[in-house]
Amino acid sequence: MNRLAVTSIALGLAALIECAPLGAQQGPLKVFISVDMEGLAGVVAATDVSPAGRDYAHFRTIMAAETIAAVDGAFAAGAREFVVRDSHGDKTNLLPGDVNLPGVLLIRGASTGPKNMMEGIDASFGAAIFIGYHAKAGTPNAILEHTSNGNVIDFSINGVSLPEGGYNALVAGLYKVPVVFAAGDRALTEQVRGLLGPIETVAVKEEIGGDASRGLSPKAAQEQIRAGVERAVRRRAELKPFTMTGPYTMVLKVRQEKSAYKGAERTGPGEFKFTSPDLLEVLNAFNAMK
Ligand SMILES: [Zn+2]
Repeated sequence: MNRLAVTSIALGLAALIECAPLGAQQGPLKVFISVDMEGLAGVVAATDVSPAGRDYAHFRTIMAAETIAAVDGAFAAGAREFVVRDSHGDKTNLLPGDVNLPGVLLIRGASTGPKNMMEGIDASFGAAIFIGYHAKAGTPNAILEHTSNGNVIDFSINGVSLPEGGYNALVAGLYKVPVVFAAGDRALTEQVRGLLGPIETVAVKEEIGGDASRGLSPKAAQEQIRAGVERAVRRRAELKPFTMTGPYTMVLKVRQEKSAYKGAERTGPGEFKFTSPDLLEVLNAFNAMK
């Protein structure tokens, strides 16, 4: 057992004692928070979220502040353990000292498995939350819309075209964890509610043509995220995990083809099909060919 695990257990025991009267939960309520950058308040340009960009350091602090707002909201709704997954680029954007709260475990760095932006999710969580998320590739009136990387034109499973918030919600759904809240631009909030149902959302900005966006101040965005996450975590029992019935057939359309994943079929220029009863294996195929 490493020191992190010992700390986690210690925090868990402390929270268990504190929360004991709440009763219904097995142990303290745990919330999983996946944090991307394109959908943060004020972000409009790729340079805002690239380490070489002029204002990256600023938007890093916004990323941390929106994460803390989500933790605060979940705490107010009874959560006592939080796993925060840095989900942008090489996944080293959140600085540990900037999300320095008791009960928070931070997952940083790129992982090799299929869970990627959901690395760390399992059945021990009561709810999942998306912060700084963006709409899928091809979405009109959206800010920095894309799916995983610039190469993906469309990614669907069982005929449903999915944004990152869609397939990441499916990963949570494998463990019966509902996604209860998402923050991003208006297009993102409409897209995830269309897929996941009436979850709580906060639109921190909206595209008003070209690369222009009109948005909330960081402070207002953080206050709305805090309040929205609190409502969402309180409503978690009525919000369903996002699931599909297997087998899972993905259709991936890309600009530049990579070699076909084992068992995948090339169905046209830049188009591949792959079927498996295992959703995580489908995501392995997606990650290999995207
Ligand atoms: Zn990102």
